[in-house]
Amino acid sequence: MGAVNQHGNCKMSEAHKLLVLAGDGIGPEVMREVARIVHWLDANRGLKLDITEELVGAASLAVHGVPIRDEVIDLARKSDAVLFGSVGDPAWSHVGFDKRPEVAILKLRKELELFANLRPAQLFDALIDASALKPEVVRGLDIMIVRETVGGIYFGEPRGIETLPDGSRRGINTEVYTTSEIERVARVAFEMARQRGNRVCSVEKCNVMESGLLWKEVVTDLHKREYQDVELSHMLADNCAMQLVRNPNQFDVIVTGNLFGDILSDLASMLTGSLGMLPSATLGIVREDGKRNALYEPIHGSAPDIAGKGIANPLAQILSFAMLLRYSLNRAEDAELIEKAVSNVLASGLRTADIMSPGMARVGTDMMGQAVLREMEKLA
Ligand code: NAD
Repeated sequence: MGAVNQHGNCKMSEAHKLLVLAGDGIGPEVMREVARIVHWLDANRGLKLDITEELVGAASLAVHGVPIRDEVIDLARKSDAVLFGSVGDPAWSHVGFDKRPEVAILKLRKELELFANLRPAQLFDALIDASALKPEVVRGLDIMIVRETVGGIYFGEPRGIETLPDGSRRGINTEVYTTSEIERVARVAFEMARQRGNRVCSVEKCNVMESGLLWKEVVTDLHKREYQDVELSHMLADNCAMQLVRNPNQFDVIVTGNLFGDILSDLASMLTGSLGMLPSATLGIVREDGKRNALYEPIHGSAPDIAGKGIANPLAQILSFAMLLRYSLNRAEDAELIEKAVSNVLASGLRTADIMSPGMARVGTDMMGQAVLREMEKLA
């Protein structure tokens, strides 16, 4: 990331500790564009960062023999936030699942107890034609899906495949949620809503699942106790899928469990068009020092098919950094500046290959990053 206290050598007491893990494939390419913005914010808006960069994924496997070292996990635990690129490399597809580059991100999520995944689905006006829906349905789209990520049916016990006495087999997974697991993710959603449109829609299947019934009761109780200023509604997951396609603008913040959130957040992503545009955040427990574990990353992977070609779209990574500024460093104005600059650049007609459309000007990773920076300078 260049000169801003790289590798944590230059300590500044008031500087925010940031761990940067660019990873594999296009990860380092798009992260370079964030570095430009970091430098600019440092020079022009007093953003002081104490940055440490480390290897993860295939890059770490090649040097250290593991997808992520314990020291890096420890650093993540002591950082104000982690900015992650992407991991994955086809060269490692022959090894067992536990040794693959992707283990790096799975381990980070587990070790930092990152339980709430935040996925904004925001449509930039200039990209309205990239949406799978009609312009009049998606115009102005700005929703946030908060998905519980460490509980529910993906982790519940009992699980497995068993052979029955008659020789047939049975696959088992169990949806389990406790009061505290529901409360902590609902709390994130209510807090998020207060910074946005002040509305939360809680999504489950209380009509057929006891865990859904408990989910609804716990969210309702918490709302009554602490968040009456936020508007709360409830919706069944199947209806929510339908409503996201029929009239997505009715939502502000959606909070839901792991399984439904997995599906609904992918659905919502497609409302906005390209993978190269979508940031995300995953928030974890509040630590003893009062800070919350948090990791920010684009939705996309390492895109080995385009790695090294200089054509990757850096905007998802840049927008992930904007989320980091807003939610971990409390610098909403800087986040808005970046988001507005991205919006203006798109409005000016510049496009990377993945979001290209007729009549627009095609640029590479580097030019797109520079254009965002120029726009920030103009706006500031
Ligand atoms: P991918 O997101 O890497 O790529 C899917 C398609 O979208 C590709 O055609 C790619 O070129 C394109 N694309 C993705 N990001 C882009 C960008 N910023 N600009 C332009 N085009 C972009 O998904 P995949 O191909 O299924 O996976 C590739 C590798 O990434 C795999 O090893 C996978 O396990 C890994 N992966 C990692 C993460 C992560 O690090 N969190 C997430 C998803 C996939």
